[in-house]
Parts: sequence; structure tokens; C-alpha cells
Amino acid sequence: MSAPVTAPAPAPWQQYICRACGYVYNEADGDPDGGLAPGTRFCDIPDDWACALCGVTKLDFDLCAAPDPAAPPTRRQPAAPPAPSPTWRPLACWSAPIS
Ligand SMILES: [Zn+2]
Repeated sequence: MSAPVTAPAPAPWQQYICRACGYVYNEADGDPDGGLAPGTRFCDIPDDWACALCGVTKLDFDLCAAPDPAAPPTRRQPAAPPAPSPTWRPLACWSAPIS
């Protein structure tokens, strides 16, 4: 079974934020001062790379989830009206004992 060879779609640039100082590493921009060319993927950053501001390594960076403009807006669910409490009362329908 031969699957057609298709080039993977380029993943969008990700941003990673430094947990220590809040510096945001943008893959599209890289870190020229730190020796990372623009377009350097976070996974390609050497382990000895240090945060440009505080000096921690990439291990202290978290993926910065930027809002995706292509994502559909979150649809708000209309709040369901509170169900009226039924004023149900048992019917007094017992048959009187025959005395
Ligand atoms: Zn930092």
C-alpha cells in the first residue's frame, strides 16, 4: 500500500513564554541576539540556549497559546430558564372506609 507523498503543511509559528521572566520567544522572529535565526522552531533550539532576559533554558518555557483568529467564535449557549417548581400536590382521592 503506497500512500501519496505529500509535503506536510507548514505549521503556524508558535510562541513560547518564559516562565521566569515572561519573555516571549517567537519562532518566526527567532532570537538573533541569542544566535537563533528567524524561523527557528522551538524544538530546534539547543538545550544550552538561554533566555535573552533572564538566562533560563528552554525547559523553562511554556507554549504560549495565542488566540487563533481562524477559530470560530465561541458560541454562547443561551441559559436555560429555570424550570418552574411544580406545585404538585397529591389528590385526596382515597376511598373512605366503609364503616
Ligand atoms: Zn526569561
